[in-house]
Amino acid sequence: MPDTEILDRQGTCRGLPTPRPGFQRLEATPELLDKLREASQRLETASPEEIIAWGIEHYAPYLTMATAFGPEGCVILSMLAKIAPETYIFNLDTGYQFQETLDLRDRIAAKYGIEVDLLQPELSVPEYETLHGGPLYRINPNQCCFDRKLQVLERASKVMHAWMSGIRRDQSADRARAAIVGWDKKFGLVKISPLANSTKQDVWKRITEEGIPYNPLHDQGYPSIGCWPCTRAVESGETDERAGRWSGMQKTECGLHTISEQDGSGI
Ligand code: SF4
Repeated sequence: MPDTEILDRQGTCRGLPTPRPGFQRLEATPELLDKLREASQRLETASPEEIIAWGIEHYAPYLTMATAFGPEGCVILSMLAKIAPETYIFNLDTGYQFQETLDLRDRIAAKYGIEVDLLQPELSVPEYETLHGGPLYRINPNQCCFDRKLQVLERASKVMHAWMSGIRRDQSADRARAAIVGWDKKFGLVKISPLANSTKQDVWKRITEEGIPYNPLHDQGYPSIGCWPCTRAVESGETDERAGRWSGMQKTECGLHTISEQDGSGI
């Protein structure tokens, strides 16, 4: 088991950008929701690059992406390097990530010049575990994800208008309902999913053909990689690529991409 002290990395967290004077958060007005619905339908046949370019055109500099450096995130980073390398991109650095994941951040920076910001929760891992009398992921992973991922994302959402995600519709039944562009009610952001219509094969074809850096753990039986305490390699015969996430627990998502359809506005 990795040493959490070693996995706490300092010096790669620049912090969130400061919005310009007069910045205001977006509101989910009927006009905005109509605009997003119309754009989403129009972008159904667009390429991932065209979808990213649309996002940049409408929301830069307040467009961001939270990446865990999965294959999809790496592909989007490779596209951003050509379209808008100045985009502020961050990683939810829980303090429990695999060393291979943190190393991938540096490999991406070296190849594309995009320095993904490692945004950290307020408490370090030792502080957090002391507060809870031990690792919370063992007994209450929902709270742990809330404190170490969702709260950090919420902080980021306050200075942004839109975020991109690498979700694909073929990943799970929940994600199958993702819009290309929709309103993310949970975070109050426009959510753009450039790879929603891509398949796993499409993503890996790009990685192979273009030499995009990826996490070496994918070659060791980990199709989906999160924090090391909540990720295991999948067994042969397991077809769900997220089967190794929160294995043995009633949990399939950290809560970032849970679909909300309460107002019919998409994600
Ligand atoms: S994935 Fe596990 S270790 Fe990471 S934040 Fe969630 S519960 Fe905590």
